[in-house]
Amino acid sequence: MVAVAEAELYLPSSLQDALRVLADGGGAAVPLAGATWAMRAVLRGEELAARYVALSGLDELRTVEVAADGSLAIGACVTHARLGEAVADQPNLRGLHDAATKAANAAVREAATVGGNLSVAAFPAADLVPALLCLDAEVELARPDGNERVSLERFLQLRSELAPGTVLARVHVPAGRLRTAHARLPLRVAGDYPVAIVSVALDVAADGTVARAAVAVGSVEAVARRWPELEAELVGKPVGAEAAAVAAKALSATFHGREGIEAPGWYRVSVLPTLVRRALTALSGQEGNQ
Ligand SMILES: Cc1cc2nc3c(=O)[nH]c(=O)nc-3n(C[C@H](O)[C@H](O)[C@H](O)COP(=O)(O)OP(=O)(O)OC[C@H]3O[C@@H](n4cnc5c(N)ncnc54)[C@H](O)[C@@H]3O)c2cc1C
Repeated sequence: MVAVAEAELYLPSSLQDALRVLADGGGAAVPLAGATWAMRAVLRGEELAARYVALSGLDELRTVEVAADGSLAIGACVTHARLGEAVADQPNLRGLHDAATKAANAAVREAATVGGNLSVAAFPAADLVPALLCLDAEVELARPDGNERVSLERFLQLRSELAPGTVLARVHVPAGRLRTAHARLPLRVAGDYPVAIVSVALDVAADGTVARAAVAVGSVEAVARRWPELEAELVGKPVGAEAAAVAAKALSATFHGREGIEAPGWYRVSVLPTLVRRALTALSGQEGNQ
């Protein structure tokens, strides 16, 4: 046991050991991964937990497994930098690659993990959330009595009420011959939280029209979500950045932008058509399933 300020740090020998200590802690013990969010708890005016259970040393949570069909199992303690490397040669995952490699700054990306990025309910600007939402990702939750898979959408609803002893163990990304892109708007420089994010995944048919569309928006509202009205508008038409931006402008009123010190709510909504245009431009040159 290592003393960190007033908190204790527990170094588990396995995931089962971590789950047991977290469950026994009854909420006083919480998971710790890259610590890039947790380290600033005091700056946010939050209390430190009594005990942190360090997950980042657990090898079983640090792998990215690519199955023969191209589906991925990403360990919760895979860092942004490692995820970027792991998917760099997968053309259908450009959006996920850009989310992992453009978020934050190089030092943070070496430490910040996938699991930490998805788990913080109070962080609307997480880049990996919209990138994974539009890939129909599922989250594997580990508990002392077994594991359960839920959609990422469901996890976003559950994550602030997880029972003690529940840990996000892996993220599963299904295979798909998609064209994907991730467009984000940081206000000033790289390293700022983005004020708005648009992630897009398109399944393009042989005739060049969109067979299936997934669009996810982050940082605009309190929780990232899909944009079903725009998805419906894109299906059946050729991939077109300008037309998509026009449709996004007409449909922007479906979002209620959150107020924040870095940008007002109306601004976050007003940049969505531009981000949609950028995302569609980025993926229009990609090879898909044609
Ligand atoms: C300077 C700076 C700039 C940043 N810019 C960006 C940005 O542009 N885009 C972006 O997306 N993010 C950005 N971030 C945020 C960063 O991505 C998050 O802090 C990080 O992803 C959190 O991961 P972590 O491993 O450090 O989590 P930790 O800080 O270790 O944990 C965060 C929370 O998640 C919980 N947790 C962690 N892992 C698990 C798990 N496996 N299961 C259950 N609960 C878990 C912890 O209990 C804690 O409550 C930035 C951070 C910094 C410091």
